[in-house]
Amino acid sequence: MAKGSIRVQTENIFPIIKKFLYSDHEIFVRELVSNAVDASQKLKTLSSIGEAKGDIGDLRIEVELDPKEKTLSIIDRGVGMTQEEVDKYLNQVAFSGAEEFLKKYKGQNEENIIGKFGLGFYSAFMVSERVEVYTKSFRDEPATYWSCDGSPEFELYSIEKPDRGTKIVLHINEESKEFLDADRVKAILTKFCRFLPVPIYFIDKSAKAEDKDKEEKEEKPINNTTPAWTKKPSDLSKEDYENFYRELYPFGETPLFWIHLNVDYPFNLTGILYFPKIKQSYEIQKDKIQLYSNQVFVTDEVKDIVPEFLMLLHGVIDSPDIPLNVSRSYLQGDPNVKKINAHITKKVADKLEEIFKNERPSFEEKWESLGLFVKYGMMTDDKFLDKANKFLIMEDAAEQEGKKKFYTLDEYKMEAETLQKNKDGKVVILYTTDPIQQDAYIQAAQRKGYKVIKMETLVDAAFINQMETKWENVQFTRVDADITENLIDKNEEQSSVLSKEEEEKLKGLFGIQIPELHVTVEVKGLSTDAPPVVATRPEFMRRMKDMGAMGGGM
Ligand code: ADP
Ligand code: MG
Repeated sequence: MAKGSIRVQTENIFPIIKKFLYSDHEIFVRELVSNAVDASQKLKTLSSIGEAKGDIGDLRIEVELDPKEKTLSIIDRGVGMTQEEVDKYLNQVAFSGAEEFLKKYKGQNEENIIGKFGLGFYSAFMVSERVEVYTKSFRDEPATYWSCDGSPEFELYSIEKPDRGTKIVLHINEESKEFLDADRVKAILTKFCRFLPVPIYFIDKSAKAEDKDKEEKEEKPINNTTPAWTKKPSDLSKEDYENFYRELYPFGETPLFWIHLNVDYPFNLTGILYFPKIKQSYEIQKDKIQLYSNQVFVTDEVKDIVPEFLMLLHGVIDSPDIPLNVSRSYLQGDPNVKKINAHITKKVADKLEEIFKNERPSFEEKWESLGLFVKYGMMTDDKFLDKANKFLIMEDAAEQEGKKKFYTLDEYKMEAETLQKNKDGKVVILYTTDPIQQDAYIQAAQRKGYKVIKMETLVDAAFINQMETKWENVQFTRVDADITENLIDKNEEQSSVLSKEEEEKLKGLFGIQIPELHVTVEVKGLSTDAPPVVATRPEFMRRMKDMGAMGGGM
């Protein structure tokens, strides 16, 4: 029996890296700039504990584009690397990482493996025919030069470099010319780096830029190094939150309110979630939440991290526990993701409950936008449903003293206690899907003392169906349904100016005019301004018809 170890031919690594990372070439910017940020942050830490001596000066990162030379350079003033470190990090580690990568993913088509295996630096080779590294460590050692064209051969020797830090020069290859375009590079920087914690300057050396007046080139970093979510809620005003929202969505309407997330156990997570103004579900834009990992943009496809109904929200989530290389299959298997999911749901429910309890008038005012979201959440998430049962509100079809009136489920049940119970003792929630068309029925019901609520939005039909199974002892009935049949106590003793005989006659006449099945015609009153004749159909018949189950016969 022979024993041995599998050897991986390093010559094969680059073609494979290129192939695997093919889908998303632009992420080399994210990887190299975040390495530069890491190097700068490490230096700050080392300086604060006295390991890096002296004044570290202003830390800044420069991304320098030189289309004439066909280079893109990333320059930092961070810790730098000694020759030994270059050998360790850029030669060995990456190569062994690549080996592991090869073993693990042989034959699989997993995207964006980068980062997981310490291969971030190597993404440079997706777009470069040669990569050069000039680096000087904060330790008192000679500077180092490293150069590689993507083959396993590299050059490594000492050079003169007075200033601390690392400069990485990418010689952009022919297929990747797009990365020599200033607008393209700037757009990528904005996408991935706009909230990184170290100031990043974009320096455009193209002829076009040189023409410009020097004054005009006044330097401004492309990033906001202290985005709102990284600050303490107590340090932020309403304006700060609203301004940050506008920074994220320049054309967005002012949000209704927001939740500042801050968790450090059992996982790290910060962020701000905004409730946008929405009136109809078709106005909702999903994929508005951006996911960050230590202020590095990861993705705006948060489908597996945020519960579906929360995707209606806008804002930012930042978790270092979510790796940069998020891929769908990875996220689904990640235990942290499930916890994050549950936690965010809880936070959102708690915040809504808090506003409901402490500021009910403002909660009611926002209900038009909130309702859609709350109902959607109640239908799709049982944990949310449990909490939301306390703050879901239903609007009365009639205003009271010119003001809207709302009931929670419990409040409605109290109102309905004596009048609106059906034969099985269930509370009947009377609702209208169209207060104008169904006005006569609403009036008739209200005159009997019944409470009618509005259920007119797109989600309501589904919501009603689901809550009937989820809420105990509740039955929904549309106001134009055959109410009297369902309610035990009709409270309908009214005097009529018509004799019983006349009523019967009228009823017969209307009955002939409305020859549909299962329609009840009731003739009443005439003494008040109530509609004298009401035609109704049982709730279940109407729902069947709405569902199309009864065909066109009714
Ligand atoms: P990772 O960032 O996941 O460790 P990378 O391939 O991106 O993997 O980088 C490998 C290592 O190279 C880093 O951990 C770091 O030690 C070193 N390195 C890369 N870029 C820099 C830089 N700009 N300054 C200092 N060290 C760097
Ligand atoms: Mg890295």
